[in-house]
Amino acid sequence: MKVMKFGGGCLKDAKTLDRVAAIIAHEGRKPAVVVSAFQGVTDQLIAAAAAARDDERTISDRVSRLWDRHVKVAEGAIRPVAVREETLRAIEVVLQRVERLLYGIAYTGEASPAIHNHVLSYGERLAARCVAGALRARGVAARPLDSDRIGMVTDDALENATVNLGRFRASFRRTAGHIKRGLYVPVVTGFFGVTPEGRISLFGRNGSDYSAAVLAHGLEARSLEIWKDVGGFMSADPDAVKAARKIGRLSYYEAAELSYFGAKILHPRTLEPLTGRTVEVRIKSLAEPGGRGTEIVRRVPARRNVVKSVTANEGLALLRIHGPGVGYKPGIIGRLGRRLAELRVNIYSIITAQTCINLLVDGKDARRGFEALKSDRNGVIARVDLEEDVALVAVVGEGMVERRGVAARVFSAVARAGVNVEMISSGASEVATYFIVDRADAARAVRALHREFFG
Ligand code: ASP
Ligand code: MG
Repeated sequence: MKVMKFGGGCLKDAKTLDRVAAIIAHEGRKPAVVVSAFQGVTDQLIAAAAAARDDERTISDRVSRLWDRHVKVAEGAIRPVAVREETLRAIEVVLQRVERLLYGIAYTGEASPAIHNHVLSYGERLAARCVAGALRARGVAARPLDSDRIGMVTDDALENATVNLGRFRASFRRTAGHIKRGLYVPVVTGFFGVTPEGRISLFGRNGSDYSAAVLAHGLEARSLEIWKDVGGFMSADPDAVKAARKIGRLSYYEAAELSYFGAKILHPRTLEPLTGRTVEVRIKSLAEPGGRGTEIVRRVPARRNVVKSVTANEGLALLRIHGPGVGYKPGIIGRLGRRLAELRVNIYSIITAQTCINLLVDGKDARRGFEALKSDRNGVIARVDLEEDVALVAVVGEGMVERRGVAARVFSAVARAGVNVEMISSGASEVATYFIVDRADAARAVRALHREFFG
């Protein structure tokens, strides 16, 4: 059994939807499919929920825009009239629910996290109906399945939730039997599950990769394909480095670290549900459907060049907490962390010394975090600084931390390029070395490192 996941990058318009349907229909044995929302739709839903709170007059306009987009896609990719009509009706039913939820937010003037998540889940529900329609138009028996209806039960966390795999297996067993017998191709919604109390829980941005792995677990699939619109997994961002090359194989840890540091390849928790299973995981490219893509394996054999990829995340900021004894004060990191967690500010990394604690956070959250920490002085913290123009450069490769001389090569290459390294963390991960530079220097550092390790 194979699970195929198609992200928002593969679902842009009628043309890409048609290509996706062709790829699925081409499979010899009926696969299972997981989809993200069409590109940009999740962001539109986030904006719609925020706008509804302040002004109900925005709602019909925003819902019509979603309607127009999906109708255009469905009409472009689904020729047979009966299938097309049926798909349009399904889209209408789904959008009516979105509209009602948005009015609920407008009338109460608030969106609880559960309602907010519920609104966000509709991007995937819409996409699943479009993809199933496009498959039926090609004569493939296909059905949209909403993950909250097939028992994808999570823990209580509404954000970054974790699926209870045992429970999912149990409630999914019958449906799984039908799917494995090839009765139809299920088109399952990615991104969300449902808490034991029935609230919609999310797996985080790009969470559909994780959903796909959960489905692979539930179906005991042998193969999981994550389809992207880009040309596979590269040694660096090809827009930044012309000589970037394709990587044939990566370990689980390398893929997770690269995703964490901004390469956006896989949701960092994708491989969790596959622990203990033998599943072939591949990143495939819509641009080159016949290509082998990048294989993700448990362990890669040691190679001469241990570095696999160089990446930079330019969307970060540093919160620097100064005080003569901050490094020594018990509990201070816990307190800072809790304060930021309340504000939903995610900490990427912490680098500490006796007189300064450095928190690396998402750039868009930085100001919020800064204001909160600034007002939270209690004698230990002397000053809080915000540095907004920083980037994190990461060099990733299994075995690089044990291999003698790799760190020296990393930092001398960067120094030769005239880039000043502001802060270093090495050894925190067994497969990555990362450091912080001025945002303006990030691209130069990446190019220098790529030249050093890939020639
Ligand atoms: N649609 C969601 C997002 O934009 C989930 C996903 O794409 O996997 O983050
Ligand atoms: Mg996505």
